[in-house]
Amino acid sequence: MEGAFLADIFFNSILNSIKDVFFPARCLGCDAPMHCHQLPLLCDRCRELLTPILSPLCTCCGMPLPAGRDHLCSTCLIGSFSFDLARSLFLYQEPIKSLLLQCKFAGKLTGLATIGSLTCQSAVVGQLSEPEVVVPVPLHITRLRSRGFNQSQLLAAACFPHWRSRIKVDLLQRHLQTVPQTSLSGRARRSNLKNAFSVRCPQLVQGRDVLLVDDVFTTGSTLSECAAVLLREGAERVEAITLARAL
Ligand SMILES: [Zn+2]
Ligand SMILES: [Zn+2]
Repeated sequence: MEGAFLADIFFNSILNSIKDVFFPARCLGCDAPMHCHQLPLLCDRCRELLTPILSPLCTCCGMPLPAGRDHLCSTCLIGSFSFDLARSLFLYQEPIKSLLLQCKFAGKLTGLATIGSLTCQSAVVGQLSEPEVVVPVPLHITRLRSRGFNQSQLLAAACFPHWRSRIKVDLLQRHLQTVPQTSLSGRARRSNLKNAFSVRCPQLVQGRDVLLVDDVFTTGSTLSECAAVLLREGAERVEAITLARAL
């Protein structure tokens, strides 16, 4: 068993050396040539541009705060969100923006391994409760067909390989093809999402801790609506993680 494992490591290191010689790695942020294919595939300059979201932040929605200790932001003080906790790894800016946009619109999935490796190195994941069920935010079937994949599902699998068996893809369903939340405000956002989601098998969430996964936290209203539906169906706790947060 151990012999097979060592042979695997040996084989992979030979394969990677061959790959480095014949297919030189390029930074996924700026396309600069790199010395090797070691993850994350980001050059030093792009790594410096990464802005992790650390304290001080809102203890509920994870919004970065200008100074002081962690505390509830004004939106969370009035209980605007249904989720129990939300966290994002990085600010939505380069090189994360390029990584996600490539994954979302160009169908280039090579960035997923890099995103997975950044998640692995992030301290933010340690702030989450261990979930019993992991739920990627679903796309409407029309959008899923035109894109061919749900980026949140791919992110969940890339970022949490150790929880792969807990990822439930069809558990949450999206019935309405909503307009982007950023184009709306206040009441329009809530009515845009009203009845947009439902839980297919409520018994799978009843009494369970659920983790929602999405790419970007923009207004938080989609994650909040998903959480509301899951809690209504009996989930014990709903937390949310996104790779990036737009400010
Ligand atoms: Zn770069
Ligand atoms: Zn907040």
